[in-house]
Parts: sequence; structure tokens; C-alpha cells
Amino acid sequence: MKVITLEEHYTTPMYLEATKNLGPEGQAGGEEVARKQADLGDERLADMDAAGIDMQVLSLSGILLDALDPATATAVARDANDRAAQAVQDHPDRFAAFAALGVQEPETAADELRRCVRELGFRGAIVNGTAGGLFLDHPRFLPVFQAAQDLGVPVYLHPAPPPPPVRDAYYGGLPDGYGAVLSIAGWGWHVETGLHALRLIVSGLFDRLPGLQIIIGHMGENLPFSLARAESVLSRAPKPLARPLSDYFHANFHVTTSGYFTLPPFLCALEVVGADRLLFSVDYPFSTNPQGRTFLDSLPVAPADKEKIAHGNAERLLGLTP
Ligand code: MN
Repeated sequence: MKVITLEEHYTTPMYLEATKNLGPEGQAGGEEVARKQADLGDERLADMDAAGIDMQVLSLSGILLDALDPATATAVARDANDRAAQAVQDHPDRFAAFAALGVQEPETAADELRRCVRELGFRGAIVNGTAGGLFLDHPRFLPVFQAAQDLGVPVYLHPAPPPPPVRDAYYGGLPDGYGAVLSIAGWGWHVETGLHALRLIVSGLFDRLPGLQIIIGHMGENLPFSLARAESVLSRAPKPLARPLSDYFHANFHVTTSGYFTLPPFLCALEVVGADRLLFSVDYPFSTNPQGRTFLDSLPVAPADKEKIAHGNAERLLGLTP
């Protein structure tokens, strides 16, 4: 069975240099993860081969990108995209890529997305959490989403560390660094990204851009579990949405399994999202390919649905040749 993964990260010397004083998050995972993130060749390919992963869609591990000054972020993103393009060119049957974008300069970021898709053959973009303290439903970011819709490529909405006031209020006062861990992958990333997705919907973004496709990882960032209640409560809002919340979720979102390799959240996502919008991913190298592959192989779904989850949905969404 062919296997494609969509939340697979790399880093660059320029990104590491630019973010080295911004806190420990950029160095998460220790020496082995750092080495694997830096590699876009032999070690990565060997790790893919060892778990039967045919193709990775590469994205910059850019969770601190939007904490940089805007001009630096734009330059770092462009350099990262050129490196990913080289990897795709060297191994076109093994790698595809999502563009890193300095979204604090939205018009420039939209230009960069157009360059990456039209000139470099990229399959979409990745964005990371808030930018300059703003969620991406703010109208200033519309050019980025407009470009994605016009190009017919998805935007992967990835978590990033919370803005400092949120970090202090929600994650302060805990012993021994637990707050830092809870603020990111231990909890905060996932509820924030779920909220981010809801904000994109209630802002009316998908009424303006009905063709826009957003990918969220981590088995749907808690949304499959909570969608029905959110829809029910939002239906009583002073100004109701043009359509039910779940209509937008089913029309404009895809969900990946990145980093979530247990059955209960998968079964919830399968029930709510369905097999046509659920895509296997690993979150390499923060999760390992064998972890992911073992989980994929264990899934209690019909063979046709497993083929969709493993590669078919990715091929359709990203325009990859089967
Ligand atoms: Mn990730």
C-alpha cells in the first residue's frame, strides 16, 4: 500500500540562527531530532524506507517564524522554500513540499506562495499559530488565503507557542516546567489550533473563499470531539452563521493523524470527519515513522478506506499523480 505523509518537518541553518535566542521551543526534541530535521537526504529517506513511507510532504518546522521581525521571517521562509525545492528536485518521487510563509507581510507571503506553487511545484503552504499576536482570521491576512484558493492549494494550519499574555495567564504558576510543556504539545497547541479553526469559520472567511481548503493535524485538534456542541451553541449566537458550523468543517477542512496514534481519537475523527477527509501523517521527526506506520496498519477500517487515508485523499487534495 502506498503511503504519503503530510506533516513532516525540516529545518535550515538560517532558521536556527534567526530563532536561537527565542526560547527552547526551537530546539525541542534534543540532538537526534535536530539532526533528523536538518537532513533532507539519506537519513530521512532511510527512515521513510524503514517504515514503508513512499512520500513526505516537507514543511519547515517553523513554529517560531512569526516571532521574528517580519522582514527576517520573510527571508528565512524564502531560503527554506528554496532548500525544500532542491530536495523535491533531487527526489521527485519521494518528496513534495508546503511553502513556509512570513505571514506578517501578507502581500509578500502571497507572492511567495505563488512563486512556490507556480515555479517550484509546491502543493500548498504551512502557517504556524498566531502572527504578531493575531489569529489569521484578521482581515490583514486575507491575501494569503486568497492566493491559496486561487492557486487551488491547501493551507496547513500548524500550532505554535502561545502569545506571552496567554502563556503567563494559562500556564504560569506550575511546578518544574510543566507549564511550558502544557502550553505546547501537552495541551495548549491543540486547543488553540482548534479555536483558530473555529475563528476562521465564524469570521466568514469561507463565505468569502468557499473553495479554500485548510488542513489541521493532530486528529483534528479536538474539533471532532467538540463539533456538535460548538455547532449547537453557535446556532444561538446573535448573528448566526450563514450555514451550520459542521457544513464549513466538512467543506473546507481536512484532518491528519500527525502525532496522534491511539484509537479513541481516531475513531471519533473517522465518525465525524469521514474517510474522505482524513489523512495519515506522522509529524516526523517529533514522532517516528514506525510509530505512525504501526498505527496505520492497526486501524480497524475497510481496505478501501485505509487506501484513502494512507494516500488516496492526499493525492486528490494535493494533485499528486497516483
Ligand atoms: Mn508538526
